[in-house]
Amino acid sequence: MQISSTWCVPVAKYTGTKTNCLNLGSYNYLGFAENTGPCADAAYQSTLDYGAGTCSPARELGTLDVHKKLEALVARFVGKPAALVFGMGFATNSMNIPALMGKGCLIVSNELNHASIVTGAKLSGATVKVFKHNSVKSLEAILRRAVTDGQPRTHRPWRKILILVEGVYSMEGSLAPLPEIVQLKKKYKAYVYLDEAHSIGAMGPTGRGVCEYWGVDPADIDIMMGTFTKSFGAAGGYIAANQDVINYLRGASHSTTYAASVPAPVAQQIITSMTIIMGDDGTKEGEKRVAQLLDNSRYFRQRLTEMNFIVYGNEDSPVVPILLYEPGKVTSFSRELLKKKIAVVVVGFPATSIVEARARICLSASHTRDMLDYALKEINEVGDLLLLKK
Ligand code: PMP
Repeated sequence: MQISSTWCVPVAKYTGTKTNCLNLGSYNYLGFAENTGPCADAAYQSTLDYGAGTCSPARELGTLDVHKKLEALVARFVGKPAALVFGMGFATNSMNIPALMGKGCLIVSNELNHASIVTGAKLSGATVKVFKHNSVKSLEAILRRAVTDGQPRTHRPWRKILILVEGVYSMEGSLAPLPEIVQLKKKYKAYVYLDEAHSIGAMGPTGRGVCEYWGVDPADIDIMMGTFTKSFGAAGGYIAANQDVINYLRGASHSTTYAASVPAPVAQQIITSMTIIMGDDGTKEGEKRVAQLLDNSRYFRQRLTEMNFIVYGNEDSPVVPILLYEPGKVTSFSRELLKKKIAVVVVGFPATSIVEARARICLSASHTRDMLDYALKEINEVGDLLLLKK
């Protein structure tokens, strides 16, 4: 039986057996996590050419020609002068934030930032202050105090101030208010670190992420971070920045020195999918997938709203959280849908507040309208059964 990431095999979490399901929970935004097609062919060929692993960190013998090619491509894609790639998205945050920040520095972090960002901030030894989710007012209050706190106004108390935000928040479907954040960073002479795990490839008319979506110049974002585990259907992460920052991180990051580099077939999968998104393969396939994702996301969100579900997030976001309210409904929701061969991710306390348990739907360009209509019909019935609607 052919298995793709749209019709997936959820691990035998509930049923104890393999079940072919409609996947509404993975981050396969552009449908590149497929087992056939140009990406799979290129990754397969790369396995034949290089083998499955590099067996070495980037700073030792783990830098191959594909890594150099990938780094140049990432820099070009996101619009920064240079980029570095790492074997794991989580480690890209948790190992690079400590390389950039330390004692005497201040990190100002969104309260809903991902665990990898929180870990990196803690490991850095910098002072960490947390602002309310996407509240520009809360962010500014911290920055204002930070530049004057207990010090004469002529003296700047922190070595560096770094604002840590995500492009799309994966449990909320909300977007960072980037234009306002950039204004604040300029006003308070801070730096911005943007995690685009869920937005690169998935947001903006050409998939360039939230900068493109908001019309923000990438030059105004000091550190652009992203992962390859979502829109590119692969693994690993990147940091794109100016050449000095990249040169520094190449030497200072634990992730380039103490961890193996991205396996060549994985790098090749990313190169191929990114090339398609950019249209450098000479086709309109990338453009088509980015547009399809937006269409699917809007359609699904709109239909759920019409059915009277409470849905969080930005109207264009591919992450669509459906409120389940009570923790007791979390497993019932996913079990009922699993009976209909639909796999969803559900989250409750402590990942959310007690009354904000939710199902987190992730749309994909590879979902057909028939698949979405089938899912909507079943979700509607389960919503009635569990009294989930307004
Ligand atoms: N940053 C964010 C915002 C994430 O959501 C994730 C994981 N989903 C990561 C970083 C870590 O990425 P990876 O799974 O590629 O290690």
